[in-house]
Amino acid sequence: MTYLETDMRIIGQIADFAEELKSWRHELHAHPEICYEEVWTSDYIAKRLTDMGVSVHRGIGKTGLVGVVKGKTDTGRAIGLRADMDALPMSEANDIPYKSTIEGRMHACGHDGHMTMLLGAAKYLSAHPEFDGTVYFIFQPAEEGGAGGQAMIDDGLFDRFEMQTVWGMHNWPGLPEGQFAVHDGACMASADNFSLTISGRGGHAAMPHQSADPVIAAASVIQNLQAIISRQTDPLDPAVLSITKMQGSTAYNVIPDQVELGGTARAILPETRARIEASIRSVSAQTAAAFGCTVEIDWHAGYPPTVNHKSQAEKAAHVAARLVGTENIIRNPAASMGAEDFAFMLQEKPGCYIWIGAGPAEEGKMLHNTGYDFNDELLPLGASYWVELVRTELALNEA
Ligand SMILES: [Zn+2]
Ligand SMILES: [Zn+2]
Repeated sequence: MTYLETDMRIIGQIADFAEELKSWRHELHAHPEICYEEVWTSDYIAKRLTDMGVSVHRGIGKTGLVGVVKGKTDTGRAIGLRADMDALPMSEANDIPYKSTIEGRMHACGHDGHMTMLLGAAKYLSAHPEFDGTVYFIFQPAEEGGAGGQAMIDDGLFDRFEMQTVWGMHNWPGLPEGQFAVHDGACMASADNFSLTISGRGGHAAMPHQSADPVIAAASVIQNLQAIISRQTDPLDPAVLSITKMQGSTAYNVIPDQVELGGTARAILPETRARIEASIRSVSAQTAAAFGCTVEIDWHAGYPPTVNHKSQAEKAAHVAARLVGTENIIRNPAASMGAEDFAFMLQEKPGCYIWIGAGPAEEGKMLHNTGYDFNDELLPLGASYWVELVRTELALNEA
């Protein structure tokens, strides 16, 4: 790979323990744990960090932990590097020596690789503290829907460990190996769920005029909600609204009192997210009213959009370019409609979340697929990115 030649000073030393990184990744892969159940995983990371002489703080956001590495000098600067620890509730289809040993659990999003890349950086930096200030290695639980990032913040992550910026990274199938993608602003979507209870007046299906039928109201609500995306949202501003649940009467000849609908809304821009929520409330209420029905909305706010800070995005791109060359940095590609709870950390602190290319997005190589397996070739590159970032952000003052 060309990147191995562009910065031998860093990559070379990390490449020396690339086999060890691979073995850590395989052990983590074989022990997938989900959503706040990352007990074995948390113990494993704490053990690795302790073996390196890194001080470890545990129980932040339940199974979350923070490793602390101090630089040669300390003028009060500090940054946080974050990896996610959780797996997914699915069964692995791969036939590999380090296949998941837990039925119904699988590292299908590459968080095993994310943890390993961060551990690799901790190993290098704890042995070569050629930087000024403090690096916090943040291992967070429950990224896949459990808002573990928010749980760590609620547990005082940023109060207990004062840091100026936070940084994240996700492996990205579909982006060539040896490339990085960096967005100046939003890179991942928000993901909110909602339930609508449409209440009318039930009755005999043969005498609809005596009822206020919530089923016909629900049909119109579903149709009209789609106009929020197709008629009220800029076609160049990505947004999705899907109604996925519908429950009415249990009998052929009964008009129910109520119909329950459920769905999800996603947007890239925070202002679009807020507008869609407001529109769902007003369009559903007014549509139901036209049929003599009322609507109650239960809004479950999920992850906000993941929005990078421009100045940190520029620094991240600059650092990655030193590893792989400017021609391998993809700036501002289309955002993903997937969601990511690093968003919560970026709401609190300036920072940047980048994608590290994982190779072709083909069968068995897509995230959340039963045949997915993190690309081990990325381990030394990802660890080197973290190290270069630290050495840039917390550069020693040689004066
Ligand atoms: Zn995932
Ligand atoms: Zn993920």
